[in-house]
Amino acid sequence: MAEAATQSNAVPYITAWSAEQYARYEVVAHPAGGIAYRDEVPHDRDADGILWARMTLGRGRGRPDFGRVHTGRQRRAMRALLCQVCGGPASRTGDGVLWLLKDDRADWPGWPEGMAATHPPVCLGCADTAARRCPHLRGGCVAVREREFGTHGVYGGRYRPAAPSPRAVTDVIAGVDDPRARWILATQLVRVLRDCSFVDLRLSRAA
Ligand SMILES: [Zn+2]
Repeated sequence: MAEAATQSNAVPYITAWSAEQYARYEVVAHPAGGIAYRDEVPHDRDADGILWARMTLGRGRGRPDFGRVHTGRQRRAMRALLCQVCGGPASRTGDGVLWLLKDDRADWPGWPEGMAATHPPVCLGCADTAARRCPHLRGGCVAVREREFGTHGVYGGRYRPAAPSPRAVTDVIAGVDDPRARWILATQLVRVLRDCSFVDLRLSRAA
């Protein structure tokens, strides 16, 4: 039972360590529109043609920085629906995959239907740890199971045309099919939550 084997003091899988930093890069205009790296290689883009930020690998080296996520591990966890804490498979039942969300039920009727989630799901064994340790969940969170998870988007820095090279203007979320996505240097993979139901896990409250 991998879900029961999680250490309570483990550093979450997606947390970036101090040895893990964004690599130096130079963004240029892409001939077909949008942005590119001056020294771009095929590995820099995903199957949707999205350009991804380069981050060095050094998990476990230096100190964990709980306020930052590692781009590569966040993307892998979100794509494969892995637990953001232990990196094993997220909890999945007939009601769907398990997510912990900051409690924003007041935001709109039917929340979180249609919400763009940037934090990957969790397994049952790690749900309590995530509720206590994730900075964005402090102040209260809810557990949700989600049956449909087809829609992808990306979060990252949006660029606009400028001379001599495109300039970053703001951080945005856009669907991978959105024409704006070609202007984004992606740092996190996003999933739009659909067909959600609330579950009562009796989670600890964050201190
Ligand atoms: Zn886990």
